[in-house]
Amino acid sequence: MAPPDDTFIANPAALKTDGLGCHAGRDELAAAAKSAGKSDVLAQFANDYPQGPHDQPQSMCPAFGSLRVGLRMRRTATVLSGSACCVYGLTFTSHFYGARRTVGYVPFNSETLVTGKLFEDIREAVHALAKPEDYDAIVVTNLCVPTASGVPLQLLPKEINGVRIVGIDVPGFGVPTHAEAKDVLAGAMLRYARNEAEAGPVAAPRAGRSSKPTVTLLGEMFPADPMGIGMMLEPLGLAAGPVVPTREWRELYAALDCATVAAIHPFYTASVREFEAAGRKVVGSAPVGHDGTEAWLQAIGESVGVPAAQIAEAKNRILPAVRGALAKMPVRGRITLSGYEGSELLVARLLVESGADVRYVGTACPRTPWNEADREWLAAKGVPVQFRASLEQDLAAMHEYQPDLAIGTTPVVQAAKQAAIPGLYFTNLISARPLMGVAGAGSLAQVINAAIANKGRFDAMKAFFEGVGDGHAAGVWQDVPQDRPEFRENYKRQVIKLAKKRKAEEMI
Ligand code: SF4
Repeated sequence: MAPPDDTFIANPAALKTDGLGCHAGRDELAAAAKSAGKSDVLAQFANDYPQGPHDQPQSMCPAFGSLRVGLRMRRTATVLSGSACCVYGLTFTSHFYGARRTVGYVPFNSETLVTGKLFEDIREAVHALAKPEDYDAIVVTNLCVPTASGVPLQLLPKEINGVRIVGIDVPGFGVPTHAEAKDVLAGAMLRYARNEAEAGPVAAPRAGRSSKPTVTLLGEMFPADPMGIGMMLEPLGLAAGPVVPTREWRELYAALDCATVAAIHPFYTASVREFEAAGRKVVGSAPVGHDGTEAWLQAIGESVGVPAAQIAEAKNRILPAVRGALAKMPVRGRITLSGYEGSELLVARLLVESGADVRYVGTACPRTPWNEADREWLAAKGVPVQFRASLEQDLAAMHEYQPDLAIGTTPVVQAAKQAAIPGLYFTNLISARPLMGVAGAGSLAQVINAAIANKGRFDAMKAFFEGVGDGHAAGVWQDVPQDRPEFRENYKRQVIKLAKKRKAEEMI
């Protein structure tokens, strides 16, 4: 079948690195995508999600972020276009995290990719799915290979039978983290909803419009946090608006229809662009701890013109309770902290105010205007922040500071435990707790103090297992296995030689 449009340039070169986007062939895929008409998309990603100091933090496939955002929305269908191995991994992880929803998949092979038939298959799938009684929107996502091959999702119809079609590219070679992939979809949806709202009347929120001006909350957070934030906004004469990413399409209109936006998580660059296009101001940081809450109430109040006396009154009502909660639940111990959620700096602030000796903060997310106040506050307390932190940097900090507790990603926690240092997994145990205002002030202490108190058990375990070997010799053996580093070297040399040979053949 003929390609749908002459702007579509199928790129067979992309196929040569099928499934390798996340661990090899990254530059080739990016070059292929550029030559296949995706230069604008990649340039926008480079602008929104700056890389460095190294290319990409070691975290899960970025597309999981946008996939999860779509799967959590009511009446929204999700379709992936990508290599089968990528789709398998992404659906597995989605269901591991309780998606309980179907993930659509349009498979391809060399022929359908290079002839443009894949795009036709996607179009057909979208038409078959677009039932207004079931869906408000269908999200189609190009993973690495279809992006590199230039599959033109922008040519899909904008709507079918009243069902909105949102096509996005989320390649691992353009979007550095799964956090920022959430922004790719949230931003695309906000843009769509903004255009709808500008064109005419749109649906009101399910629970009706708030009688007070609202503050839209940017970033997924613990479910009790928006309620806590709402209570803090009340004396300012404001109410908490929707949380973006939203759980329903019509909430997007309510999110845009706010008095101001609180960028609780700092990496939503594309979403911020949409809010600013809608004429909204955006306030960074979050109401964490005493100092964070004070600065945030001030900034939010000023952004919507609340009189100074009313802001002062609100602070007088809230801050003593935050201070009291912090004092009641102190944290004692030396801590290193790293993660990829985007809330690492906020958690570090809370820990410092709780009395912890925080030596290092690593985040996979970039430095942005919306985490600048947090970075400055931490720097003033002598806490260094590493943006776009690599696993090696997180591990080096843990080994250097020998903390009483290492909070981090799975490999950091594993390395900490191996060294008999108590560790807590950031995503499951830290970011799944309230952080804001009074509720947040005491919420971390219990889990952190309990983990620090476990040091004795780690020492006992280490002593118990001492001498059973590690690495290649881990386990109990009659004849301890001999390490053979020369075999690995030999194998590595052969792989490099083979790769060079293939490259030379390609150039002939
Ligand atoms: S889509 Fe994800 S899993 Fe697949 S190659 Fe790209 S980054 Fe890796």
